[in-house]
Amino acid sequence: MHDFYYKGSDLYCEEVHLSLIAKRFGTPLYLYSHETLQRHLKVFDNAFGAYPHIICFAIKACSNLAILRLYAKKGAGADVVSGGELFRALKAGMDPRKIVYAGVGKTGEEILYALKKDILMFNVESSEELKAINSVAKKAGLKARVALRVNPDIDVNTHPYIATGLREHKFGIPIGDALENYHIAKRLSNIEVIGIHKHIGSQLVEISPFVDALKRLLILIKDLRDSGIMIKYINIGGGLGITYNDEVPPHPEEFAKAILSLIKNSECTLILEPGRVLVGNAGVLVTKVLYLKKGPEKNFIIVDAGMNDLIRPTLYGAFQKIIPVKKRMDNTIIADIVGPICESADFLAKDRNLSKPKEGDLLAIMSAGAYGFTMSSNYNSRPRVPEVLVKGRKVFLIREREDYGDLIRGEKIPGFLK
Ligand SMILES: *Cc1c(COP(=O)(O)O)cnc(C)c1O
Repeated sequence: MHDFYYKGSDLYCEEVHLSLIAKRFGTPLYLYSHETLQRHLKVFDNAFGAYPHIICFAIKACSNLAILRLYAKKGAGADVVSGGELFRALKAGMDPRKIVYAGVGKTGEEILYALKKDILMFNVESSEELKAINSVAKKAGLKARVALRVNPDIDVNTHPYIATGLREHKFGIPIGDALENYHIAKRLSNIEVIGIHKHIGSQLVEISPFVDALKRLLILIKDLRDSGIMIKYINIGGGLGITYNDEVPPHPEEFAKAILSLIKNSECTLILEPGRVLVGNAGVLVTKVLYLKKGPEKNFIIVDAGMNDLIRPTLYGAFQKIIPVKKRMDNTIIADIVGPICESADFLAKDRNLSKPKEGDLLAIMSAGAYGFTMSSNYNSRPRVPEVLVKGRKVFLIREREDYGDLIRGEKIPGFLK
């Protein structure tokens, strides 16, 4: 459910016509609905009811400060995976005691930064990292709260690049080695073990892998208790999928019910790390048709957004729905929708059947709120596009379009070339 809809033949976000926004800020641009953003958080949060839980929004999905501030104000925390993300979360006003930090390659500097900010906990991904955190904490005279990220060896039905819970993946500690690693952790002077963490993949549209993985964790928690290690937090990660095309993911209510039925007697606080499910359908990428090009084999609709602005189709072969900002009653066309980048992989859609646009028409690439702007780059020296937030009838620029000066900021020509 989202707040982009047609009134007559015009596409609106809440109460604003998309073409007005495009006119004001130019294209391409990312556009988010405040109503969708906050409703999705509320629905997800309410689904877990009175059970003690913390929602740590996975900010890699969408990390604009305005959106983080909105979520902070609604009581959410953050799942961060780098020092930069921690910086963003804090800048946005998120409570450090609702911030968890995952990732297989935390550096000493990042660990120290997070320790000094007194985040809730590190989600530790190896015994080597455990030792590194302990030594940084010792030097700083601090104690690090940790959970071990356990890799439960669960196969999930998603794109291989976004599955993370199999033995062959780089993530987490194999579940068979977890007990031993918890005992290592317990013996480290500046580590306090408080939780267990898993995250098995993204865009999962079935409940069963979540349930299977959680069951494995609960057995482990019992073994840990029996050996004197008390777990206070169960973090089940993120990964709940959304509808891009015809997927039918479980509703958060249904998801929560399945989870709560398993953990209700665990006496643990639940931590959730939703990313995509909160923001995916709350954002679109608005682009303009530059040319209709007829190749010898294919029709191409060339638009002003490219793979540097939205890489999901290129990277994962992901499907993004593409709809006109103003409907035309004309003929349909089957075409590839492609960007201006000098790569054959620069496409937003392949062999898509849509009503035939004209040059200058605007298109909305739907479900671009998650892993859209945050994965964008300056490839081909293209300035990154603005981000705009709509709230009712009001429109807010929440990130300016970059200019050419931004492209070369920080670059230096050495003296011998001057
Ligand atoms: C990416 C990630 C998430 C969020 O995944 P979604 O599929 O967007 O919900 C949560 N936790 C961790 C550790 C992640 O790496």
